[in-house]
Amino acid sequence: ELANRMAEKGADLVKTLFKMGMPVTMTQTIDQDTAELLVTEFGHNLTRVSDSDIDIAADIEMDAEDTLKARPPVVTIMGHVDHGKTSLLDALRGTDVVRGEAGGITQHIGAYQVTLKDKSKITFLDTPGHEAFTQMRARGADVTDIVVLVVAADDGLMPQTIEAINHTKAAGVPMIVAINKIDKDGANPQKVRERLLEHEVIVEEMSGDVQDVEVSALKKTGLDELIEKIQLQAELLDLKANPDRAAEGTVIEGKLDKGRGPVATILVNRGTLKIGDIFVVGAESGKVRALVDDKGRQIKEAGPAMPVEVLGLSGVPLAGDPLSVVENEARAREVAEYRKGVKTDKRTTSVPASLESMFSALKEKQAIEYPLVVKADTQGTVEAIVGAINKISTDLIKARVLHSGVGGITESDVTLAGASGAPIIGFNVRPNAKAREIAERQKVAFKYYDVIYDLIDEIRAGMAGELGPEA
Ligand code: GDP
Repeated sequence: ELANRMAEKGADLVKTLFKMGMPVTMTQTIDQDTAELLVTEFGHNLTRVSDSDIDIAADIEMDAEDTLKARPPVVTIMGHVDHGKTSLLDALRGTDVVRGEAGGITQHIGAYQVTLKDKSKITFLDTPGHEAFTQMRARGADVTDIVVLVVAADDGLMPQTIEAINHTKAAGVPMIVAINKIDKDGANPQKVRERLLEHEVIVEEMSGDVQDVEVSALKKTGLDELIEKIQLQAELLDLKANPDRAAEGTVIEGKLDKGRGPVATILVNRGTLKIGDIFVVGAESGKVRALVDDKGRQIKEAGPAMPVEVLGLSGVPLAGDPLSVVENEARAREVAEYRKGVKTDKRTTSVPASLESMFSALKEKQAIEYPLVVKADTQGTVEAIVGAINKISTDLIKARVLHSGVGGITESDVTLAGASGAPIIGFNVRPNAKAREIAERQKVAFKYYDVIYDLIDEIRAGMAGELGPEA
């Protein structure tokens, strides 16, 4: 959240904190002093925006340490198609001790929460795949604390497995590897562990620090162990939030329901969302008319890390939109209107269609930072390109590699680039048909190269040219 507000990379903040001796993750709450230190460290001015300021999104407001209470972890399951993500989500849902008792009916609301025997809770995002994960992240919503990477033991590492690894790393989120389909003939978990090494995922059994567990979503084996590992990871993360404040949350899913009107599934980030609360969500506003949990039960309030369907919205928000409870309806409308305006402005002025137009867009502003997505044919090339791009950054203009990876340009690369107005650099790789189609719609530019020097030269020349002689 803080990274977003400073327009910095979350991973860079985590890295800086790490260097300062504070190993934290992207979604962890940090105290006010640390936040201030970070803001200064990154060369930003600290502005404490008052409540009356219209742009509540710019408000860097932290909860005091003593208001923070432990909250459940939020887990996303990623992996290659058919490796068992949906099956595992279903199997884990079955471990919920209250589900049976409550007599509720499973509602697919985009996320669910299980209560374990020891009363602790885990929240799972129900939309598997890195597409949803990246889309959310591209919209500035880092809600996932832990990624469970599912790899089928009979199939091994596949392209989407590797993509999921890269996206998880880019997000700076810790990973647990679930080696699935262990019941099958031909299952070879050891081979999975070995192949993971090639992608710098070193599991415990290979003397690394990434937890791994053998499971069968079909036979429901290894689930307890997986849950234990999630709990252990969550403990290390020391996840906390202040439940006693006006709620802030993130849209997991939005839809127009025939009978109920606009409905959004909100994951509460901090505070407690209550019936009657007035809120702004993305460019919509509303008043909480009802709250429905993942078991179809009407509830009165939802605290941190709890997914809940909210009724009473003016329209359908987008996944990743932030929700904030505000003091009155006039203010809700005001902020929603303001956000609508900001959104349109952004869309018309800052989505560059090419490197050239991006540079001219940059010329007008002084805050010169530009995003890129880099795809190349080998890991070595990716590293060389990213390293070289980082080196040509200056005080005046700074490259920001949003995502880099090995392989052809995919839809998820385009989604990420489109959300940030970034061009995609393809080194010896090309987009697939679907990616091209989405790129056309979202006006994402592709740049192809086969010589690193050409790539760097072109970027450098563009930078120098656009900065003008005084630079
Ligand atoms: P997803 O595409 O990753 O969501 O994968 P699914 O959950 O849809 O699973 C793909 C196929 O693998 C389905 O036919 C499942 O029944 C099967 N499957 C999933 N988990 C297991 C498992 O642990 N063992 C076996 N034998 N089959 C499984």
